[in-house]
Amino acid sequence: MSHLLTGVPASPGIAIAKAYRLESEESVPQRKAVDDTAAEKQRLKEAVEAAKADIDRIRESTLERLGPQKAEIFEAHLFLLDDPDLIDAAMDQIESEGINAEFALYEVASGIMEALRSMDNELLRERAADVKDITGRVISKLEGRKHSALSELNSETILVAKDLTPSDTAQLNLEFVRGFVTEIGSRTSHSAIMARSLELAAVVGAGADASEIRTGDTVILDATAGQVIVNPTDRQLEEYSVRKREYEEYQLRMRSYVDRPSVTADGVQVELASNIGGIDDLEKVLANGADGIGLFRTEFLYMGRSAFPSEEEQYSVYKHVLEKMGGKRVVIRTLDIGGDKELSYMQLPKESNPFLGLRAIRLCLEREDLFRTQLRALLRASVHGKLAIMFPMIAVLSELREAKRILAEERAKLEQEGIAVSHSLEVGIMIEIPAAALAADILAKEVDFFSIGTNDLIQYTMAADRMNESVSYLYQPHHPSILRLVQLVIQAANRNGKWAGMCGEMAGDSAAIPLLLGLGLHEFSMSASSVLPARELVSRLSKQEWSRLAEQALGMSSQQEVLDFVNQQLRSEA
Ligand code: PEP
Ligand code: MG
Repeated sequence: MSHLLTGVPASPGIAIAKAYRLESEESVPQRKAVDDTAAEKQRLKEAVEAAKADIDRIRESTLERLGPQKAEIFEAHLFLLDDPDLIDAAMDQIESEGINAEFALYEVASGIMEALRSMDNELLRERAADVKDITGRVISKLEGRKHSALSELNSETILVAKDLTPSDTAQLNLEFVRGFVTEIGSRTSHSAIMARSLELAAVVGAGADASEIRTGDTVILDATAGQVIVNPTDRQLEEYSVRKREYEEYQLRMRSYVDRPSVTADGVQVELASNIGGIDDLEKVLANGADGIGLFRTEFLYMGRSAFPSEEEQYSVYKHVLEKMGGKRVVIRTLDIGGDKELSYMQLPKESNPFLGLRAIRLCLEREDLFRTQLRALLRASVHGKLAIMFPMIAVLSELREAKRILAEERAKLEQEGIAVSHSLEVGIMIEIPAAALAADILAKEVDFFSIGTNDLIQYTMAADRMNESVSYLYQPHHPSILRLVQLVIQAANRNGKWAGMCGEMAGDSAAIPLLLGLGLHEFSMSASSVLPARELVSRLSKQEWSRLAEQALGMSSQQEVLDFVNQQLRSEA
């Protein structure tokens, strides 16, 4: 019987193949008494050495296939195998309790994992998976088992497992593995991140039902939709074979845009940049050939930890991003905290309307110490690439002037200390409050650029909380009210010789791009996976034609009318 499961679409793709169930190796070793504890400790020592040799091999091949960042995890694993809290503690237990190495290691590791899992910090919680991975490997060595059966695969396969460890994922034989399904996991689990770098279709967190999938079952994995069909009907097989082929053709066509310039059909160059939340996103940005980074949401550096990141730590992150982007522009936004984004270690006053409260630049101007630390890190990093600093949530000119004054002070201090700061550093603001959009002509004189944050601009224009489902129908990027504000901002920038970009979700929307292009937007910043489809779309559009069409759209009476109009135009051009 055909059977449908849904999970998290962790890495896109469509695959059809036989399932291979990877049994989890969670068998609990038996406790056994041993007489010769010295021999037992020697056995553990040898097993640890053998496990290290394996991990080192995996590290080397990961380094070669996926680069240093992905290989780092295995360095951490090697490091863990030298951790006295683990191996030495197991040695002590063998000695003091006269027990076998498998059980001693299992006990010690279980204690460590339990402690890690109860931590507040997500990163530390994830370390539990690493401890499990390495101890499982050492125990397999002790028991004389192969760590996993992955190497036995010899035909096209969709792997099914409760979860995949980092080393399972790194070892997948891509000649045969077409994708994987796991019962647990989220978009940010190790296996999901690895799948995306390997460009392997993956659905994670498909739930306990996935445990019913047996080796040999035929499986359709539609990882673009997060769906898994077990033992499909002939009709489903036919339908998905077509979808798979179409998806592959589409992918191939998009890939051909990686190295092409972002140019319209009538020869106008634009910039198609990417939004990032941290250095882990860079790989995808580079793989998709983005023209730069249009928004680095630095607040993620401050989240999921127990204290503020230091100037040094921030400097090294900003430097890394600038260097990786090799001279392409990187717009880094200063801390945008408050509203829906909180820091567990920062006491913020309780407000009844946090989105209208002390957030983003307002908070930074109040907590100058935090702001200055970040600005110093940014200024120091500026010499490593093409940096643009962006202040979020500017409502009035005085906020911009105050932020720029503090920036100038930090710059002067650094120069006095003999620390170099780039002379071509750009300074701009996000336009996400209607007041700033309406007064964009005033602000434009004192910035190098604008970037329109439509996620907030729409929320504030429509007076509709972006987190509130009941009013989500008012998220209307195509509404003439929004288009008119966007036009005001772009015109103000262009008239003052400045550039205008957009980094809200609207910038990557294929039904908005033609209008934005027509209104004269220069830079579009979106998720990395949208860059190539956007480049392909732009290459088919005439800017001149769309300036005329955008003017028409501005006079329409509803979002629906605008959408119908854009879609009809696009269809007639195709
Ligand atoms: C925006 O408001 O459009 C934006 C890009 O910022 P964020 O989504 O981080 O608030
Ligand atoms: Mg915003």
